[in-house]
Amino acid sequence: SFSLDGKVAVITGAASGIGLATVKQFLQANVEGLLLVDISRKALSCAIESLTPEEQDHCEMYVADVSAESECTYAEKAAQRWGRLDIAVLNAGICFPTASILDTDVSTWDTLMNVNARGVFLGLQSCAKVMLQTQSSGSIVVVSSQLGLQGSPGLSAYGASKWAVRGLALTAAEELTPRGIRVNSVCPGPIVTPLIDVFGKDSIPRMAEATLMNRLGKPSEIAHAILYLASDAASYCSGTTLKVDGGYAKF
Ligand code: NAD
Repeated sequence: SFSLDGKVAVITGAASGIGLATVKQFLQANVEGLLLVDISRKALSCAIESLTPEEQDHCEMYVADVSAESECTYAEKAAQRWGRLDIAVLNAGICFPTASILDTDVSTWDTLMNVNARGVFLGLQSCAKVMLQTQSSGSIVVVSSQLGLQGSPGLSAYGASKWAVRGLALTAAEELTPRGIRVNSVCPGPIVTPLIDVFGKDSIPRMAEATLMNRLGKPSEIAHAILYLASDAASYCSGTTLKVDGGYAKF
């Protein structure tokens, strides 16, 4: 298994779903310090409580809205607490069913783009700055989506936000890899988390059938991919888009 021995990491959207599964795997991989960032204080407290006391010793929680520039101080917070920042997982995101492009109102577009795309832009900027200041190396993993690889009828704003973050990760890889920071993205397929509840139970069989495995994925199956890209095992990966979707996207 992959080791994060001695590493300090931040994970956004850490209180639920894919973020929380990643927290657990990072702890199993011996991460030294882990800052759990989320907009929900209550969900963060529950997440911390679900860990063992030994695991809690390596964790701090940080309440922040990733789309608010003034709240994107989590990278500095990790560096203050542990003296460095090696890994950032920019995972926080929201999704809700919208409509076709013709019927999507601009406030829906703004809400989804603010959290999903602006939030990742701000995270890339602040985490890379701290990594360059503290140790001139690092690994950043951005969570995009299968809908960042193909069209997303009925989910145009969400799909656009996921293309945006995958594109940002590619640009960041070109700009930052020569300076010691690897940047990669993961594109999950349909995963069983609270995020997909908004589509209703009826849509689950349809989502499952769209995969080659006829099932939804588990958060841990995405966390494995994030752990790999975050760790030194992926030392030759930067600008990689890792699709983990049960064969959903057909390219
Ligand atoms: P989730 O709803 O279980 O977790 C998302 C977490 O992000 C929540 O704890 C939420 O409080 C937090 N969050 C939301 N807005 C925030 C903000 N403005 N600032 C800080 N934290 C905020 O969802 P998930 O399925 O684990 O999603 C994680 C990521 O994976 C998202 O970026 C999502 O788009 C992506 N994704 C999910 C799926 C899926 O099928 N579940 C598929 C592809 C991509």
